[in-house]
Amino acid sequence: RSGFAALIGRPNVGKSTLLNALTGEKIAIVSPKPQTTRNRILGVVTRPEGQVAFIDTPGIHQAKGELNRYMVEVALQAAEEVDLVLFLIEPPASEKPEVSPGNRAILDRLQKIGKPTFLVINKIDSVPKAQLLPLIDLYRQEFPFAEVVPISAREKDGVERLFHTVLGHL
Ligand code: GDP
Ligand code: MG
Repeated sequence: RSGFAALIGRPNVGKSTLLNALTGEKIAIVSPKPQTTRNRILGVVTRPEGQVAFIDTPGIHQAKGELNRYMVEVALQAAEEVDLVLFLIEPPASEKPEVSPGNRAILDRLQKIGKPTFLVINKIDSVPKAQLLPLIDLYRQEFPFAEVVPISAREKDGVERLFHTVLGHL
């Protein structure tokens, strides 16, 4: 099995951290500063069971200004070209589950692109587990996700499982 998967999501959700966790290398710059990733970065993971090329993209956000608009297009272009989209979110700061307007806007664009899409909930180390189920339910009402995978890219929790789930869809 082999194929391409794009990491798509708002700035700072942990796309670059996930790429580094998947590849075991520091190929993408991780920063608390949004918009550190301006172009796409490719990381290839090769295992006996298969090979996946992951594409890290700039965060998608309200496009103000030339550079921002360019970065959003870079991200969506990547979604067009891959076999699978990994849509990353982080749990909302408030306990109440919600789909933020920014995330809804990305989901609208992804819906039009029409690629099989995973909901990857990152940073699960930062919230109580009980908060995840209502959040997953809410997102599932918005979009027909192929899979929902909770992870902590920083703690490398769930990353191996994510890789194998991706392989299962290629
Ligand atoms: P990107 O903009 O989506 O590429 O996000 P980055 O990978 O640059 O990460 C943004 C910030 O979130 C950094 O400060 C990371 O250390 C932090 N971060 C990434 N993954 C996790 C995680 O699993 N848990 C926690 N608590 N923080 C994380
Ligand atoms: Mg990044």
